[in-house]
Amino acid sequence: MKANVWHGKNKLQVDNVPDPTILNPRDAILKITSTAICGSDLHLLDGYVPTMEKGDILGHEFMGEVVELGSAVTNLKIGDRVVVPFTISCGHCLSCEEKLYSLCENSNPNAWMAEKMWGHSPAGIFGYSHLTGGYAGGQAEYVRVPYADVGCFKVPNDMSDDQVLFLSDILPTGWMAAENCSIEPGDVVAIWGCGPVGLFAIQSAFVQGAERVIAIDRFPERLRMAKKLRAETLNYEEVSVLEALKQLTGGRGPDACIDAVGMEAHGVGMVGAYDTIKQAVRMESDRPIALREAMMACRNGGTVSVPGVYGGLIDKVPFGSVMNRSLTIKTGQTHVQRYMQPLLERIQKGEIDTTCIITHHLPLDEAPHGYDLFKNKQDECIKVVLKP
Ligand code: NAD
Ligand code: ZN
Ligand code: ZN
Repeated sequence: MKANVWHGKNKLQVDNVPDPTILNPRDAILKITSTAICGSDLHLLDGYVPTMEKGDILGHEFMGEVVELGSAVTNLKIGDRVVVPFTISCGHCLSCEEKLYSLCENSNPNAWMAEKMWGHSPAGIFGYSHLTGGYAGGQAEYVRVPYADVGCFKVPNDMSDDQVLFLSDILPTGWMAAENCSIEPGDVVAIWGCGPVGLFAIQSAFVQGAERVIAIDRFPERLRMAKKLRAETLNYEEVSVLEALKQLTGGRGPDACIDAVGMEAHGVGMVGAYDTIKQAVRMESDRPIALREAMMACRNGGTVSVPGVYGGLIDKVPFGSVMNRSLTIKTGQTHVQRYMQPLLERIQKGEIDTTCIITHHLPLDEAPHGYDLFKNKQDECIKVVLKP
């Protein structure tokens, strides 16, 4: 089959690779119909995650048709159309029973690596390096889905791929980012980053009762989209974000601040290698640091929610401000499985528009070009969907 393969920092290629096969009784094989490129994939492309290996297949946002099933999967049948959460979860461990699916205790065969880096291990993730299991991703013609009885979410045939694909990651991620803000009626929420995650966080914050959302980025087309979704916008290249946010909130600061940027703003990757944990690799950055700004901007007693992905150490986090002003920090890889059914219903009711962020459909063969467009924001790119 064809697959989008990592060949080193900033080197991708669509290669012919062996088809996946059933390895465990709870596996399924899917024929992919749609698969997207995520901001998290850019961290891999940029070489911020040191546990990628040449030959790894990328992609953790995908959906498709079940073509093969392991003997223990009884709730699916061949031909079912399903979306798959990016976090791999067994459904039965303590974390899964508490619905903390991205912390599944059974799905990361390389837990030892994660424990060295982070003290404990989170769940396995599709196409996200050997640190999170080394699973082949879904930017391919076929993919193996472990724990398919828990991981495959059936979708109605009258909904298009574009409507439901983002249930795999970024819609639940934007939703959980807003949910972590415990929004009360009348609240003002500020969101750093108007990429796909930030744009879904804007929609989610309004649905959850925010009165105002202030969105921050520097790309005009992304700010325009944020405005279309009813956010007030700030271009951080044109204004001082901290001062502007004070002015817009009567000097008080937003009730909640969401960092939907992650490592990009810091130019800070993960520790150089999993056996040299003490040495943080720092890259140059000429951008303001979103997380620091979010912490400094937040009102006393407010919440900073961090869906943005971080890998290793980050410098100069203003923890004195967090402590002395009673801020709450909430973060995590999204517990996607929790949110799929309720968010599917919100899409059906028209409360959330999932298709508006898609700017490009490309054949799988053009995946490397799609990464270029998305990374460099060329051609007003906001979200790329690949069609194998
Ligand atoms: P993206 O790269 O398309 O969007 C990031 C946006 O942030 C860009 O538009 C960029 O211009 C903007 N930005 C950069 N520096 C900024 C700054 N200082 N202030 C304001 N804006 C700034 O990525 P995306 O797909 O929207 O993903 C966003 C983040 O969410 C990434 O870190 C990604 O890894 C993460 N993510 C997390 C989860 C999760 O489970 N927690 C899931 C999916 C994605
Ligand atoms: Zn993602
Ligand atoms: Zn589990």
